[in-house]
Amino acid sequence: MTRILAITNQKGGVGKTTTTINLAASLAAADKRVLLIDLDPQGNATMGSGIDKHALEHTVYHVLLRYQSMAAVRIVTKHGKYHLVPANQDLAGAEVELVDLSQREARLKTALQAVQNEYDYILMDCPPALNLLTLNGLCAAHAVIIPMQCEYYALEGLSDLINTIQKVRANFNSMLCIEGLLRTMFDPRNLLAQQVSDQLKEHFGNKVYRTVIPRNIRLAEAPGFGIPVLYHDKQSKGARAYLALAQEILDKPGPNSKDDDRDERQQ
Ligand code: ADP
Ligand code: MG
Repeated sequence: MTRILAITNQKGGVGKTTTTINLAASLAAADKRVLLIDLDPQGNATMGSGIDKHALEHTVYHVLLRYQSMAAVRIVTKHGKYHLVPANQDLAGAEVELVDLSQREARLKTALQAVQNEYDYILMDCPPALNLLTLNGLCAAHAVIIPMQCEYYALEGLSDLINTIQKVRANFNSMLCIEGLLRTMFDPRNLLAQQVSDQLKEHFGNKVYRTVIPRNIRLAEAPGFGIPVLYHDKQSKGARAYLALAQEILDKPGPNSKDDDRDERQQ
């Protein structure tokens, strides 16, 4: 069964793109078939996967506007381990162009139907806003992964995001659930980070991934080479953390298990 996951948080700079690229590479390293969809006009997941966003004729923009199919637009990444539906600045116009069109929030979901069975995991890197692009991601997804830094305003932002998820669930996608909350750029010596982390676990229980992503320079360097950290420095703390996250996701009980039902009621 294909698992479709939106990596989302309306806050910028929390590690969404870093998580999407490195989780895609880590799941692919475990022999899973992975498609990464870049939903951010900044195209950082595209560049970080080794694809020049300026040289693209077709992107996810053309898929959303129904000029191209998903199959026509996807490309194999530089290291060849996962497929990418790229994005660039063109996508910034999509929001305005989609407003008056039918099924504007379900375009990605519809376009995915033709290819989704070819993949075990489809990961969508959402932009830092609760806009129509993110809404397309949330409507297409089975679940969301929320990367977050454990800092003072993190929990406040989280409640806005959870409200949005509940609205999407009520109006568009009744199956949508939270796959997990991921603590990123974590510094265990920072007392505030520890306190926020404890509060997160108190509120969200085992929805908080056991795996913590540390602050690690190799993770910040890798996009400059257009490769996931796994191919930049496999022994780095960052590479090992994302491999551990992939394993935690692979080991998770299925969405219909009893454990998962209990978690959902606690949210
Ligand atoms: P978002 O997609 O949420 O805006 P990014 O993944 O682009 O966030 O991360 C923001 C910045 O922080 C980038 O420069 C990225 O390289 C860096 N970064 C992300 N995660 C880490 C980490 N664990 N350690 C060090 N730097 C990181
Ligand atoms: Mg990003």
